[in-house]
Amino acid sequence: MTPAHGISLDPWFDHYADRSSGLSASEVRSLFAVASRPEVVSLAGGMPYVRAIPDEMMKQTLNRVIDERGAEALQYGSGQGHPELREQIVDIMALEGISARPDDVVVTTGSQHGLDLIARLFINPGDVVIAEAPSYVGAMGVFRSYEADVRHVEMDADGIIPEALSEAISQARSEGKPIKMIYLIPNFHNPAGVTLSASRRLEVLDIAQQENILVVEDNPYGLLWFDQPAPPAMRAAGDHGVIYLGSFSKTFGPGLRVGWVVAPHGIREKLVLASEAAVLSPSSFSQLVVADYFQRSDWKGQIDTFRGIYQERRDAMVKALAHELPTIEHTKPSGGFYLWLTLPDGLNSKEMLPRAVTELVAYTPGTAFFADHRGTQNMRLAFCYPTPEDITEGISRLAKVIREEIEL
Ligand code: PMP
Repeated sequence: MTPAHGISLDPWFDHYADRSSGLSASEVRSLFAVASRPEVVSLAGGMPYVRAIPDEMMKQTLNRVIDERGAEALQYGSGQGHPELREQIVDIMALEGISARPDDVVVTTGSQHGLDLIARLFINPGDVVIAEAPSYVGAMGVFRSYEADVRHVEMDADGIIPEALSEAISQARSEGKPIKMIYLIPNFHNPAGVTLSASRRLEVLDIAQQENILVVEDNPYGLLWFDQPAPPAMRAAGDHGVIYLGSFSKTFGPGLRVGWVVAPHGIREKLVLASEAAVLSPSSFSQLVVADYFQRSDWKGQIDTFRGIYQERRDAMVKALAHELPTIEHTKPSGGFYLWLTLPDGLNSKEMLPRAVTELVAYTPGTAFFADHRGTQNMRLAFCYPTPEDITEGISRLAKVIREEIEL
């Protein structure tokens, strides 16, 4: 493998496997280091507001795990995940209409790990993965690292457009390319902030079934709705051909690194083997902490608290945008963490970012969410972490930068 840009400082550059060329640091990573300075209002990262979980609640959970199950917490566990936790996961998924058995569940080290396992099982170099336009940056990274050919399909306010999906499938088929999966974030999309309507969920499932393509339903935000609950999960329509990914990162905390996958029987067995090959077993300690928290704390009350906090922040962002940039186009998320903004013609979000950081506000440029360099006119704004006051101030700084760019 030759170095991508001129001389490599890494003396091992010619030893790497071809697929490692897909592992490149985000172009905006260095700017994010600057953006994490306290004086910068960061609307860039998608960090859950974990401070909302009372310290006392965490202490009680941790103490109980250490007092009652200390040795078990330090030991290796089942590759499929702790049976007790898998039972709770089944109950949690029932809230979104899913009926599954504990044996259908594979616990992972966060849903990012689940995505990696799925890609590892299914993707040969050049295989097509269909994703929304835009799609989750972390999934794009996984698909790139397995050398997938990602095809983006347009969305509107109701999520992915079924006709456009059919066209993308026909196109890939006409090129003789294997299509391995349709990767979707139906609820409170990261980064688009839209939700796939109930009727389109069924249409997409129909298309996938007719075409014999797996649907990967990535749902870390489903319980974080503001105005009304999201429609039932796609997996709720049945287990045929849907791989479902869940996570405790947004309902509890991402530091625990616990998520899960629900998959049809044969795939599930392979997932367990692939996960054992990668990590032997997910963290026993983390799983017991999550299990205790969901058995013995008021977790539903805590999710209500999260929803209230994020809704207030969403409201602050939408209000500030209406006030500062009334003509600008953006989505209005009814849950989750993110809003997707489209800049006026001629503006480029990546080129504008250094100026925004100078004005002490940061966002994620839209190009991060595409495998094909689209998104230059878009940005993702995250309202999950800053306070409503900081969001208002951040949008005011951003508006100044945009206005100045238009005038240039
Ligand atoms: N999928 C989506 C759509 C996400 O937004 C995230 C987190 N940002 C993940 C997966 C990964 O979550 P986890 O912490 O469970 O690995």
